[in-house]
Amino acid sequence: MRLFRSIPLITLFAFAALAQKDAPKAKNIKPGFNLFSKDQDVQMGREYASQVEQQMAVIKDEQINAFVRNIGERLAKSSLADKYPYTFKVVQEKSINAFALPGGPTFTHTGLITAADTEAQIAGVLAHEISHVALRHGTNQASKANLMQLPAVLGGAMLGNGGITGTLAQLGIGLGANSLIMKFSRNAESDADLLGVRIMSEAGYNPIGMAQFFEKLQAESGKSSRVQEFFASHPNPDNRVKKVQAEILLLPARQYQNDTADITRVKALIQGMPELPKPKPQPGQGQGQPQGGQGGQQGGVQPGGNPSNPSAARPSRGLREFQSRAVSFGYPDNWQVMGDQNAQEVMIASPSGIFANGAIGYGVIAGLHQSRNRPNLQNDTAELLRAFQQRDQGLRPGASKAFRLPSGSNAIATRLQGQSPFQNTNEAAVLVSVEHPAGLFYMLLIAPESDLGNAQPAFDQMIDSIRIPR
Ligand code: ZN
Repeated sequence: MRLFRSIPLITLFAFAALAQKDAPKAKNIKPGFNLFSKDQDVQMGREYASQVEQQMAVIKDEQINAFVRNIGERLAKSSLADKYPYTFKVVQEKSINAFALPGGPTFTHTGLITAADTEAQIAGVLAHEISHVALRHGTNQASKANLMQLPAVLGGAMLGNGGITGTLAQLGIGLGANSLIMKFSRNAESDADLLGVRIMSEAGYNPIGMAQFFEKLQAESGKSSRVQEFFASHPNPDNRVKKVQAEILLLPARQYQNDTADITRVKALIQGMPELPKPKPQPGQGQGQPQGGQGGQQGGVQPGGNPSNPSAARPSRGLREFQSRAVSFGYPDNWQVMGDQNAQEVMIASPSGIFANGAIGYGVIAGLHQSRNRPNLQNDTAELLRAFQQRDQGLRPGASKAFRLPSGSNAIATRLQGQSPFQNTNEAAVLVSVEHPAGLFYMLLIAPESDLGNAQPAFDQMIDSIRIPR
């Protein structure tokens, strides 16, 4: 089954410019729509930070740490930083990047420090990161994309002992390669730039440092892979440098201090550090390196399919519970839930069931299909089948039969055949569609035909466990 990512482009909020007649217009920048509380931002950030600290090489050298911490704390004092409990750590990483987690933990790569010419340039990036925190971009993004699942999670009904992050990881929302918590829209990037400029100015850093650094990164981005990661997690807004320069013109004129610390000395300290062996990413945990844009495509899970061996991707018989407002069902406890950005649909599989090109060879796709007209199980199923055939041209529907789930809901099972990404076998799939107040709930169960005997018992268990709340 070839998966195509759907791209939700719903902008739920628009910013109004300040309604002052004569003054030049400064944009009113505020946090957007959010289902999380500020305390939940802080709690989640702490939980993710401890994961980051296990996965990345946080450096111990107090001179380097103090250099970055002093810049960060000076910026965080700005009222615009909104009093989150900011922390500023440095990780030994050659790539030019920095990132902030919801609620305040920030991490600066050593590569960013060595690439900067002045303290103000580093302050520019940190002020931009602080702005992502203050504007709550991570949880705003997650809120917009996961309307189906989040209210139940945040209401606490599902909070297990894994904390917020553990629960979100179950839903496929994590610190992965395409993490919603870490990768922002161009609008969000632009807002973080503008607020960052204001924060720098308040803290006494010359905000031109931010524009200079972006210019430098842009110039280098064609030549160096060290920079690409920065733009992968911070998509470059149009006219970035010009917008920053225009924002600076709106600020009151003031005297800026020159660099207070010896950046040359800190850069030398970094360059003298011994190289680290690269920590291995942990496949299958839903939490890779927390930078966006590289490697795995499926919500942080590294695809690990081996075309000649489906056995690692098989479902276990033990079940774990998937629960949202719209549906609950059991899924094999050795599989993981991976949310697409559009969480109307989730994919559940072992990393070994997914291939690097996005194909799923062994696993389940589950989601809600909204009826165009009045919900009608047969019509809606036919419509859904056409949609799946559009996603995967090789898919051929076979026999179907109506049945009733143990929970009492009416359902239709339709057999499908297709091309498996595993070698020497066809793909066998069953689409189960279930009546639902919103239209229908569907579960597409996919296995290589050669391994269907091993999949069938777990698939039957999953189907039998589907429950639609009434
Ligand atoms: Zn950014």
